[in-house]
Amino acid sequence: MSIRWQGVVIHCTESRDTSELQTDDITAYHKSKGWQDIGYHFVIEDIGVGPWVVAGRPMSLPGAHCIGFNYRYLGFAFNCPADVVPGNAMLVKAARFLAGLLDALGLPRTAVFAHSDLNDTTCPDAVPMAELRQMIVRGG
Ligand SMILES: [Zn+2]
Repeated sequence: MSIRWQGVVIHCTESRDTSELQTDDITAYHKSKGWQDIGYHFVIEDIGVGPWVVAGRPMSLPGAHCIGFNYRYLGFAFNCPADVVPGNAMLVKAARFLAGLLDALGLPRTAVFAHSDLNDTTCPDAVPMAELRQMIVRGG
């Protein structure tokens, strides 16, 4: 069974410091809650060598990131504190990745939601969604 993805939901991990919490730590935390893997399909993090996108849960599996939308929308998380706007380098890299991902899936580059668009949450907090959406449409 393959999933017909319809878009991407943007999250923030609300880590205290992006250099302190890595994707492997998030994976361990989510597994400790009884989930089969990290809830997000992708995480962008910066552990001191510049931002990069890390593969999380395989795209062959539904996510565990957005109630009611896990079977149709991929989860992409900024590994950032809730009150810190991701830097431009991180936004550019995320936008380039997401534009390519949406293109590869045959989806419009506008098929991007904030978690707060879909669930009762402040996530993705400080991520500048309007700016990110424009950057994705431009391709980074
Ligand atoms: Zn979220």
